[in-house]
Amino acid sequence: MAEFALEINNLQKVYDNNVVALKGIDLKVKKGDFYALLGPNGAGKSSTIGIIGSLVTKSGGTVSVFGNDINKDLNKAKSLLGVVSQEINFSQFEKVLDIVVTQAGFYGIPKSIAMPKVESILKRLSLWDKRNVQARTLSGGYKRRLMIAKAIIHEPKLLILDEPTAGVDIELRREMWSFLKEINKNGTTIILTTHYLEEAEQLCRNIGIIDQGSIVANTSMKDLLGTLNVQGFVFDLHQPLEKAPTIEGFPLKLEDPLTLIAAVNKDRSINALFSELTKLNIKIKSMRNESNRLEELFIEMVNSNEK
Ligand code: ADP
Repeated sequence: MAEFALEINNLQKVYDNNVVALKGIDLKVKKGDFYALLGPNGAGKSSTIGIIGSLVTKSGGTVSVFGNDINKDLNKAKSLLGVVSQEINFSQFEKVLDIVVTQAGFYGIPKSIAMPKVESILKRLSLWDKRNVQARTLSGGYKRRLMIAKAIIHEPKLLILDEPTAGVDIELRREMWSFLKEINKNGTTIILTTHYLEEAEQLCRNIGIIDQGSIVANTSMKDLLGTLNVQGFVFDLHQPLEKAPTIEGFPLKLEDPLTLIAAVNKDRSINALFSELTKLNIKIKSMRNESNRLEELFIEMVNSNEK
């Protein structure tokens, strides 16, 4: 079997309205990995997942699932893959049990064989008691679980989830984490996208960061957290600037002419930055802390990307 669960080369996506969503990304995810694809809104995460799951057509590049190119061996690739996208992909008027049994049928699993599997999956996802209700009556978190049940009924070797816990309350989120950990331990490779760095920290071994259609970092979670010793600061300026000043030791970025963002290493004093800005006659109206760690990470990554 192939070494990689997923191998993407030079993947490009241009939408009909000429939006360039993916600028030729490369990505390799090892068998058995628990991988996070992180990125801000609009970075290209859903486009990537949509292409892997054949819901979105690509404009260029290749995608292979366990060595099966989706252009050449689509059926084989699909049989090894489960995708949980963000959009509801079941009939809201069907019953929970019927939805999962029907899905098994799509993979050629006869009902007699599917039934015990469906029962065990629905039980594991706390959906068994709700098996005879119409899907539309489920809460958001349970609908998400139903989508997971649908995606794993054929026991895929690679499971990809697009923001599996977005909008899900913290208790359900933790339950979902433990479920995902369990199936990863049992050999399923998992890739997920998330906004929550905590989620990635809890679950993932390796991580890719995508920004504006390009991969800007590909590393292990452990290494990444080790480098995360940078604090982001946002300065509101009195007078507009045309470009960010260059101050040694303090990477600076202009968000707009009146907003300057600084990445300050933990071992450096913010006062030193203040006095350098004063020397350059840059007057600060107010300053705030970038509180989101993921944001800080982007400042750091994107800065080092631009160097
Ligand atoms: P993410 O999942 O990281 O938020 P997306 O892949 O959804 O990013 O979007 C990447 C870019 O492609 C964005 O600029 C978005 O507006 C654009 N985009 C996404 N889907 C479509 C579409 N169906 N038609 C046109 N543009 C799209």
